Amino acid sequence: MSNNTSCNVCAFYENHAANNRTVAENAGLCRFNPPVSQPDADARGLWPVVSSDDWCGHFSTERKAA
Ligand code: SF4
Repeated sequence: MSNNTSCNVCAFYENHAANNRTVAENAGLCRFNPPVSQPDADARGLWPVVSSDDWCGHFSTERKAA
């Protein structure tokens, strides 16, 4: 088993580069939880932006329903 538990190898990480986004270098969206902080009723919710070398306790190599 790899000791690398960084976001860039997590199943819930969506790299900005894969979506032709250049908002932040070496960053992407964490899709572990639903979008949050919907500012207005007609606005979209936001996915947390994380660095590719961030990590958290929800790291997983498999995307599974809870
Ligand atoms: S913050 Fe946690 S769950 Fe989200 S991509 Fe990074 S390691 Fe995965």
